[in-house]
Amino acid sequence: MNKNNSQTKLGKTQRVYVNRTLDFAKVQAIGYDMDHTLAIYNRETFEKLAFDETLKKLIAEGYPEELLEIKFDPSYVQRGLLVDKDRGNLIKVDCHKYVKLGYHGKRRLTKEERSKFYNNQNFKANEFISVDTFFALSEVQLFIEIIEYMSKKPASISKDFGTIYNDIKRNIDLSHKDNSIKDKVLANIDKYIIRDKHLATTLQRQLHAGKVIFLMTNSHWEYTNAVMSYILNDENEALSNWRDYFQYVIVGSGKPGFFTGSQPFFEVMTDTGLLKIHKGALNPEAVYHGGNANAFEKLASLRGDEILYIGDHIYGDIKSSKDLHGWRTGLIVDELEDELEKIADQAELKREINELLDKKEEKEETYQKLKSKTNFIENQMHKALRQDDKKKHDKLKTEYEKQSELANELFDIVYNLQKTIKEKVKKREFAIHPLWGETMYAGLERSRFADQVSNYSCIYMNKVANLRFYNQTKKFLAVKELMPHEF
Ligand SMILES: [Mg+2]
Repeated sequence: MNKNNSQTKLGKTQRVYVNRTLDFAKVQAIGYDMDHTLAIYNRETFEKLAFDETLKKLIAEGYPEELLEIKFDPSYVQRGLLVDKDRGNLIKVDCHKYVKLGYHGKRRLTKEERSKFYNNQNFKANEFISVDTFFALSEVQLFIEIIEYMSKKPASISKDFGTIYNDIKRNIDLSHKDNSIKDKVLANIDKYIIRDKHLATTLQRQLHAGKVIFLMTNSHWEYTNAVMSYILNDENEALSNWRDYFQYVIVGSGKPGFFTGSQPFFEVMTDTGLLKIHKGALNPEAVYHGGNANAFEKLASLRGDEILYIGDHIYGDIKSSKDLHGWRTGLIVDELEDELEKIADQAELKREINELLDKKEEKEETYQKLKSKTNFIENQMHKALRQDDKKKHDKLKTEYEKQSELANELFDIVYNLQKTIKEKVKKREFAIHPLWGETMYAGLERSRFADQVSNYSCIYMNKVANLRFYNQTKKFLAVKELMPHEF
């Protein structure tokens, strides 16, 4: 059985996708992030909680009570979007930094507005806030809803957009810190976290293949312990406690600071939650807090490229671990779970669009040729006039009119094709996501998010448990991309 066969036997949402060739046999250690990686959140209930808690705090600070009518919609915001907090806009950018789509509140920005604010400017993505994680979805929707409310009632809130965004951010961070969210999650964990029954098998296979498995999360000990217990305890007789799977457990890692900084490791007193500074090799029996990547590699005797780290956050988990330490990286793209199905439903439409694009290219080429021809005839006509050769001029004129008519017909055909393509692209995008279209595309171009996924992750998948379908010594081969001159 060759690799292609084994890959295509799996459903699209069961596969692991490869950007850079990764030899699993050479991976000594596999590290996992917890939230949205090992622990799959029910976005609808969890983000609603963050949304509602934050809204309550904003109203307590003096925001209008009417805002309580806003409802959380988990599908409103998409990962990879950028928030222009000063203008109150949410925008989608393609891989060439072209702003393809945008909304101010719930009003779609016009092409003129997009040009004026972004596409005619020197676009700098770092001036905006990037929606990198699911945790940001609720704060961004809240922002958009408040902007929409202000558009309808301009006198209702006398603050600028940037201040409003900062107020939301401060209150959402507070809701995470003061445990108003965590307490509710832990009191009713099955409502908020989805237990993947294949996760235990996946990790067990990696252990049997001799891999070192470690957990590295920004969540703190008490919450980590509760969530990990819920998703892994008693799933397997030999590994009845979640900690049996992990050689190292690092909580409160402060990523991306873990990869950029030099904070020391602390040992967590698991009964009291107190921390004590740690020195020397890491003890597999212990739980650590903080730390940094350089010390981790040294204390765990691992080289950067022997470590595969899997997380859901482009910057926190993937970019800095790869760029600064040469770790191999795996990204969880949970969106694919729903989207791949919708993309499959739209396959026929996609085929029609591609056919029309080919046809348009062909007609455009013929049109350009005809235009050159008519220009040439026109010049010849002028020349004949200058030479007083009326007969030649009239003959050329007849030919000119004939060719011009053909060119005009073709122009109309190209114009109509363009219009039909646009309509079909819009229809397809709407079917996949009514506001933003496909996560990995902005119109016909790759989205900025898709560009990040391919630049920073060696492999990506919609969930960790997809790894169970593959042999632990598998060489994941990247699809070779051709340069334009190689086609
Ligand atoms: Mg995470």
